[in-house]
Amino acid sequence: MPQTQCTQCGFSGCKPYAEAIIDQRAPINRCPPGGTVGIALLAAVTGRAIVALDASCGVEAPRKIARIVAELCIGCTHCIRACPVDAIAGGPKRLHAIIPELCTGCALCLPPCPVDCIEMVEPPLALVGWTRKDADAARERLNRRDARLARLARSERRRLAEHETQATTADISPETSAITSSVTTSVSTAGINDGAIANQAGTERKRAMIEAAVARARARLNPPT
Ligand code: SF4
Ligand code: SF4
Ligand code: SF4
Repeated sequence: MPQTQCTQCGFSGCKPYAEAIIDQRAPINRCPPGGTVGIALLAAVTGRAIVALDASCGVEAPRKIARIVAELCIGCTHCIRACPVDAIAGGPKRLHAIIPELCTGCALCLPPCPVDCIEMVEPPLALVGWTRKDADAARERLNRRDARLARLARSERRRLAEHETQATTADISPETSAITSSVTTSVSTAGINDGAIANQAGTERKRAMIEAAVARARARLNPPT
């Protein structure tokens, strides 16, 4: 697969399309960037017959690269978030720029641009064509980006869970907040620190433990008569 991640095949990227071919869920002629050469390679690998490129997916054409019209860019970062291979440099409210050597020509950055300031242009002579080495490098950048986004998502989930726990603790009435504080201290003293709880059982379990301890403390303070 050319690893442009352009989605013209109707799948979310090259890997899902390859998996669909292997599982016999898709024909081998849906990749315009791969073109006739790609179809022949897939036919050889899968043992299927060579067929013409499915025109509904697009046409085979030389690769173009994206270019940002600097005067129009408002620095919204939408294009950076859309680029599957980290080929765009820039930051919030700053002019963005395409790194031509890294651009696969997938054109996925065009639709999200609110001011339509990205265009597809012919690459400079040195960058004409798309080799196996280019494809491998693009796949590596995609994998690195996916790993980074997964890390960020995990850290955001953790942050939200901690925020929720703090909010729940703050919601406890003034009467019991003092109890909560002493209970939390005793829980920590017992060797069950916040990190261990989060690692072992998550925020829900931590909250349940605190609530149970508050109930016990309340019962101690207000024994049944
Ligand atoms: S390069 Fe081909 S296989 Fe990869 S996403 Fe584009 S159309 Fe699909
Ligand atoms: S800069 Fe645009 S066209 Fe180039 S790889 Fe990124 S999303 Fe695709
Ligand atoms: S999406 Fe368009 S306006 Fe926004 S940063 Fe990218 S090029 Fe600039």
